[in-house]
Amino acid sequence: MAKEKFFKCAFSHCEHPDKKIPEAEATKINSRYWHKDCYEISQLIQEIVDDWHENVSNTVVMSLLRKTINTIIFDKMNNPKLPKNESDLYAARYLNFAFQYALNHNIPLRHPLGLHYLIDDRQIKEAWKKKEEARLQKEVSKEVDMSESKQTTFTAKKAPTDFDDLFGGVI
Ligand SMILES: [Zn+2]
Repeated sequence: MAKEKFFKCAFSHCEHPDKKIPEAEATKINSRYWHKDCYEISQLIQEIVDDWHENVSNTVVMSLLRKTINTIIFDKMNNPKLPKNESDLYAARYLNFAFQYALNHNIPLRHPLGLHYLIDDRQIKEAWKKKEEARLQKEVSKEVDMSESKQTTFTAKKAPTDFDDLFGGVI
């Protein structure tokens, strides 16, 4: 049997062991290989950077913007209760959500460091909770549908109600 082939993930913040990706799970983008979740995180970050440049300020100091985003996702929002790659993905999704929310609701943003206040905004947290509840609800009902059609025994997965817990109490 041929030996399984591995690639090395292109993401500099990859948290998978040795950054290794089995060939079957690798996503190839521009001749580089990524874990699916690593690629999603990098895209969520890039979207914030691009949208900031386009909608907030085109004279923003890019290195400061990127550094602030990285600090928030990879350090500040780190949830020790989750594997690091899951915590990073969740944090990236939340930060992107908070930023898009601010753009859509005219919440003023002037400086990259303002992102630290944004993730703690009460209104944004409430909107995120609603969105997450809807997403989890959808997942649960999908599972019910699937299990009913297969006639298997099903135990409803309880959606977490304490969302603060998902952030490790950080925000
Ligand atoms: Zn990776």
